Amino acid sequence: MNIIIFGPPGAGKGTQAKYIVKKFKYFQVSTGDILRDEIKKDTEIGKKIITHMNEGKFVEDEIVNKLLEKIIFDDHKKNKLIFDGYPRTVNQAKNLENLLNKSNQKIDYIFFLNVKKETIIERIEKRKVLENRSDDESDTILKRYDIYMEKTKPVLDFYSSNEGFYEIDGNLKIDEISEKMQGILNV
Ligand code: AMP
Repeated sequence: MNIIIFGPPGAGKGTQAKYIVKKFKYFQVSTGDILRDEIKKDTEIGKKIITHMNEGKFVEDEIVNKLLEKIIFDDHKKNKLIFDGYPRTVNQAKNLENLLNKSNQKIDYIFFLNVKKETIIERIEKRKVLENRSDDESDTILKRYDIYMEKTKPVLDFYSSNEGFYEIDGNLKIDEISEKMQGILNV
């Protein structure tokens, strides 16, 4: 089975994805981590995207879609994928569906972590201290939230009528969210 964890920046997508990876021996697909790695390694892609990422803007669909392709067709990871931070646009959602179809896979569960704006700001301020991410500055956080509302929230329409779609209160504690997700996955 393949899973998407969906929600605004700071919703706890990465934290929950890591939990499932550990518990079920899954593979986390965090496009944010993949892109940060390109920057760290100073690759051609890394050089191209660094400014956009630091400003909290989206990296072009074309670049992200291409990076994703390799992972989807990796036989070792097939049907054990947990997406965190992808898809972030309707174009990416369509691309994902297309790639999964071609590789005989599908999305089985979508967890939407619904979080209040105030909680997000609070959490990202804390994460900035812990992880020192260059896109966690206060003004960038607000910009990322606005971009989420404009470009990512519409992706919900793409999935909300799916059988495996679950909305979870993302304002709850980390453990409470994990428990709810695990309860659903164990059914
Ligand atoms: P994240 O770690 O998921 O919060 O992503 C950090 C940053 O990476 C975002 O603010 C974007 O600049 C970029 N990014 C990550 N995933 C995507 C994606 N699916 N599409 C476009 N940009 C992305």
